[in-house]
Amino acid sequence: MYPPRITRYLIHPLLCRVNGYYRRMRTLGRDLERSEWWATEQLMDLQVQKLRTLLEEARRYSPYYKQLLQQAGLDPTHATHRDLAGLPSLDKSSLRTQFEEIVSRRYERDRLIQCSSGGSTGEPVHVLRSGEITPMLGAITERGYRWAGWFPGASHHKFWGAPMDVEAGTDSWRKRFIKEVYNKELVNAFMASEALFESYHVRHRSRPPALFESYADILYEFARYIEAQRLPFFGAAAIVSSAGTLHDFQRKLIVRTVGREIFNRYGCREVGNVAQECEAHGGMHINMERYIVEILNPDAEGVGELLITDLDNLAFPLVRYRIGDLGKLASEPCACGRGLVVLERVVGRTLDVIVTPDGRRISGVLFPRVFRDYPQIVLGQVIQNSLTEVEVRLRLQGNMTEDELAQLLERLRGAMGPEVAVKINFDAEIVVTPTGKYRTVISQLGGASA
Ligand SMILES: [Zn+2]
Repeated sequence: MYPPRITRYLIHPLLCRVNGYYRRMRTLGRDLERSEWWATEQLMDLQVQKLRTLLEEARRYSPYYKQLLQQAGLDPTHATHRDLAGLPSLDKSSLRTQFEEIVSRRYERDRLIQCSSGGSTGEPVHVLRSGEITPMLGAITERGYRWAGWFPGASHHKFWGAPMDVEAGTDSWRKRFIKEVYNKELVNAFMASEALFESYHVRHRSRPPALFESYADILYEFARYIEAQRLPFFGAAAIVSSAGTLHDFQRKLIVRTVGREIFNRYGCREVGNVAQECEAHGGMHINMERYIVEILNPDAEGVGELLITDLDNLAFPLVRYRIGDLGKLASEPCACGRGLVVLERVVGRTLDVIVTPDGRRISGVLFPRVFRDYPQIVLGQVIQNSLTEVEVRLRLQGNMTEDELAQLLERLRGAMGPEVAVKINFDAEIVVTPTGKYRTVISQLGGASA
């Protein structure tokens, strides 16, 4: 392991000097470190300023919003939270059909970055953003790590979807250098299996990471593996869990087996990390410097659909975006004293795990990532009927070519291995939960997931 103090006090400051991206991220990180302690009203003032800029930009450069704001009779330069609440929301199907009208004309289209998400609801969504907001995305993510006790150089292991170059071992020497001195390790979560859990546990248990980050479902699988094998407590100092809901019984098992403290995070690829728990664990603090989160039509309990306005993405304005999750704001502020409003919980983000005959446990996160590469797929659902039989139900808009279909099948078979029969079904009903939510992955095996 590279000495964390050398990175923290020498290499990181040096890198911030010579590299503009790191410098920008550090400056933003320091701003965030201050603003998180502001009073909620002050944070809302900041939101109003940013909202006016966003709406003004949207009115000028995005035909979709030009029309929408005109119809609403709203003058962006005087907009408030209340005006925002009067605007129509943007659901995923409108996002798809209005895509070209939403893109800002001020940006060069081919320089924009595409962020695609399957989301937990199984409806693939594509949005664009400019590179100028990348440091802010990073700074917000790092703030969450900081709340979990991390600092630049502290060891950080991640069970995550690995980019192609990492997988192939062809990532650049620069990336490898950064990984080395920042003590980062990426484990491909889509290859998670008992063998992988075992080798990872053996390799690192004498020196577990300061920060362990994972998809919720794979984190829970890792915990179950440690318990089943009666392995000693792994001992990560902090865990950031993302992309899914953790139930109380899962949290209990995880703190007995994997690490001492869990920091739940809520985010998605199309907008970034929206909220995370702090060290006081009083719910998830919304990153208010960047996001306005509203609850649409809350029920008696206060649970309603989450609407997200991304204040930074001027290239592809998302105003009152219906992300497809349900949530509830906390009635009490968090004990830590930060002014950032708290999401008490997000409901309905549970993905099952697919278990293969060769003992791998495939995160439910994988499938939306495959579906989103086919624009015709409006909705996708994976149902595991038995250990060797998986049914994929698709709802299409337009047709898939024979080639695309063959390629999709091959990718799914490749992920699940040769012993699993994969059947694609276009006609079957997509199964909906009693609360009216789609689940991307449903396991009928029992015991594979909660
Ligand atoms: Zn707090």
